[in-house]
Parts: sequence; C-alpha cells; structure tokens
Amino acid sequence: MDATLHHRAMGLAGMLFSRGGLSTENTFTTTQREGLHLLQEVKAVLPGPTQATDALCDYCGLYRGRVFRRHDGLTVQCPDCGPTLLDPANLRSWRLDDQWLIRKLRGALSIDASAPVTPVVEGVWDIGTHKRRPVVLGRKIDGVMWQALKIFHGHEPRRNSWVITPRPFGPALMEPLAGTATWWHLEDRFAIHGLALRYVPLDAEQGGRVQEPGAAYAVHGPFTADFGVAVLDDWPHGPIRLSGAQSRLFAVLWKHRHQAQTAELLMREAGLASDRPLDLFKIKVANRGDPAYEGPLHAYERLVIRQRRLGLYQLAWTD
Ligand SMILES: [Zn+2]
Repeated sequence: MDATLHHRAMGLAGMLFSRGGLSTENTFTTTQREGLHLLQEVKAVLPGPTQATDALCDYCGLYRGRVFRRHDGLTVQCPDCGPTLLDPANLRSWRLDDQWLIRKLRGALSIDASAPVTPVVEGVWDIGTHKRRPVVLGRKIDGVMWQALKIFHGHEPRRNSWVITPRPFGPALMEPLAGTATWWHLEDRFAIHGLALRYVPLDAEQGGRVQEPGAAYAVHGPFTADFGVAVLDDWPHGPIRLSGAQSRLFAVLWKHRHQAQTAELLMREAGLASDRPLDLFKIKVANRGDPAYEGPLHAYERLVIRQRRLGLYQLAWTD
C-alpha cells in the first residue's frame, strides 16, 4: 500500500467534502490529482458534466477563455495571458459522494447499519453512535461551531460527541469544541483501506507517517550533484526539489557562474524550449502557497541575478 497516495486521496476527499459541490480539476494541486485516481477507484467521487467550450486560464486563474484545439494540444484564449496550454483535465469536474462518506465512516466506526442518519443543520449530520457517544459529521469546523448550540444543546442534546470534519485550510484553534465534544480531522483519523475506510487511532500516527528523505547533500554550491535538489538556509520547508527542466537550467547556470549569459544560450544549452528562464518556475494558481512549487521559485529568485538592461543571467553564487 502506498501510504503517500492514500494520504493524498484523503486530502482531496477532505477538500471536496468541505466544498460540497462540484470542483473542476484545475483547482486541485498536483498531489491532490494523484489522489483523485484512488478516489475514483473506491467510487468516492462523482463526475460533473464535461465543459468543453471555455475554461479558466491555468496561469492567471482570473479569466476564462474559449478552448481551441491546436497541433500541440488544447489551448485557452486568455484575455490577459494570450493563448495558454490547457490540461484537458481542467474540463472535468468532481464532487465527493456525501452518502459514500457517511456509509464508510459508519463502517469504520462499527455503527449499526440500521441506525438512522439525521441531518442536523446545513452541512452537518448525526451519523449514529460510537462507544455510546454521538458521531457528528460536518463539512467545516466553523459551521459546527456557529451552530454548536443547535447541534449539541438543541431539542436532542448530543453531549460529549465525536465531531468529524476535514482539516481547516487556515489556522484553527487547537480544541475549538473543548468541553463539548472531541474533534477528529477526517484526513488524519481515517484512511482508505481496500474499498472501505479504516479508523486510525491517535497513537498509530507516528508509525504511519511517511518519512521525508534525509537532508540532501549539497555538492555544487547549494545544489546536489545532479542539481535535483537545492538547499537554502532561508527556506523553512527543507530541501527544495527541482523538476528536470529546472535542474538542467541550474546545471547550465552553475557551469557559467563566473560569466553572465543570455537567456538564449542558457536555454539552448539546457535543451529547453521556453524563451525565458522564469517560465520554468511559473506556478499554477492551484499550486500557489504549496512549498513544493513555491520552493523552486524561491530558489530561482534567490539564486539568479538578471541584468535587465543587457538581458543577461548569472547565478548569485561565486565559490
Ligand atoms: Zn490568464
């Protein structure tokens, strides 16, 4: 079993469940897209209608444009960016099947299949009892907190509930329901197991976590021997993994580190088709804020000096 893939699938399931409706694939991060296949396999997601005439531009994320088929693939005519390549996946949309989630959570917690599922307020369900305590499922912890009075102290009180919601996007209070209920993050407390969900007890967590590879060994200045990783002391998220194209560019920049060069020469020597080195570091809207993508851009901004007037590039590393 690939623990990372399962983690990604649960991450996507959490996001889709939070959103509730249909989400197009271009709002998924690359890691979430990897999880999508698993969610399809276990039949947790339902496809939306295919939209084929216009799509959101992948690069600015602001404008929609008409979709054209060209010799090199699908493009969107963005009013701001011009024609940009479109991942055909962006025409597909998905939503999480709420009933699937409820059914599988009840299975994981051994809730009697004959016990009723009760919608409590919008986006919140009572899905039965576990260890003699009510189990409350919500799309968002905020929604549960706003309606706490109704959910926990209403007509039918639910004292000392288990509350399951996806992990919130932003910072959250450690124990927002302290004294009222126990909060479980959907993605951490449940894992996909075959076609079902499995409850993951708190103390099993350490063993299940995937270890990141050890700190990379920098050989060429901040880069590893193959230029696949950069290590920068001002980047808090650890070694920065570079894509193949980014590695090739940095290898050429390293070779010419004592002499600034034109973009044409650098890109030609690296065997790359883009005109500008920065193009290799552009981040799709869906990946913004994700250290896996922000890291290479940070490395580029920190390590590459551009002499704007002459159009020359050089690595900011001289030893
Ligand atoms: Zn655009």
